[in-house]
Amino acid sequence: SAKGDGRGAFRFFEPELDELMHARRNLERDMRDAIARGEFELHYQPFVDAATGEIRGFESLLRWHHPQRGLVMPGEFIPLAEENGLIVPLGEWVLRTACAEAAKWPADLRIAINLSPAQFRSKELVRVVVGALANSGVAPHRLELEVTETVIMHDSEAVFTALGQLRGLGVRIALDDFGTGYSSLSFLQRFPFDKIKIDRSFVNELSGTREEAQHLARAVVRFAVSLGKTTTGEGVETKEQRDILREEGCVETQGYYFSRPMPASGVAKMLRRAARAAIRAA
Ligand code: C2E
Ligand code: MG
Ligand code: MG
Ligand code: MG
Repeated sequence: SAKGDGRGAFRFFEPELDELMHARRNLERDMRDAIARGEFELHYQPFVDAATGEIRGFESLLRWHHPQRGLVMPGEFIPLAEENGLIVPLGEWVLRTACAEAAKWPADLRIAINLSPAQFRSKELVRVVVGALANSGVAPHRLELEVTETVIMHDSEAVFTALGQLRGLGVRIALDDFGTGYSSLSFLQRFPFDKIKIDRSFVNELSGTREEAQHLARAVVRFAVSLGKTTTGEGVETKEQRDILREEGCVETQGYYFSRPMPASGVAKMLRRAARAAIRAA
């Protein structure tokens, strides 16, 4: 494979690819020490009741403050961390940090945390979740673990077992990026999710000008709502999108229209400003 060929083979013919691979290796090397150096930070984005705008909880989103590159977004380093296995210790740090933060919030607010497939393959996941809950004192029903369909595509028996155990603890399981995977339908039947998050590509089309895409997006929303779970529209950027999701019976909404992801200090400020807060209620 290109990865195994070493960069010497590419240097002469493909200088750009060579540079890219070099940058990748550097990023990977830096990542190994970044947890210990305290370079990772969690940002939090609220999700709100679709009808009232009241805050229901926050989703944690990982950020890396790289000493030279500045702020690095998860799209740039999560795939790499998944390949080299660092997502396992990093994911454990995320679970512990997010739960510790949520322990400071009003007890009716939930904390949503994204999980990678590799975390399920490590076999340690249930123990790590139990540990994060115990250390923080956060009640299991306040924790929502977000997984995508790719989680269940790999090693599905082990994953089903782990998800079942987590659910048995009282933890809620959310299906993230709904509509973008391969096996949505059979899959929904096999596993009882508590929450379905409609991918922002569909939310975006709801208010778009392409009529067919708009119909499809509405159908996806209606289908999700009809399953009777907590349906959340993600990536809501406009009032129009929010209004349509509301009209279709979505339970929750999340997106820049309500708030960008922010550091823990921003959450504290938001909660002080409005403990029973409603964001953009009308
Ligand atoms: P996701 O879980 O679907 O998270 C939503 C992403 O959409 C976030 O990007 C968020 O900042 C962005 N977003 C929220 N509202 C809006 C909006 O109104 N408009 C637009 N255009 N974007 C919006 P972010 O933070 O870059 O995260 C990207 C992905 O990285 C996440 O997608 C998630 O899959 C992954 N990720 C983030 N943190 C973690 C983590 O701690 N562990 C794992 N395994 N994955 C993570
Ligand atoms: Mg998510
Ligand atoms: Mg998502
Ligand atoms: Mg995503």
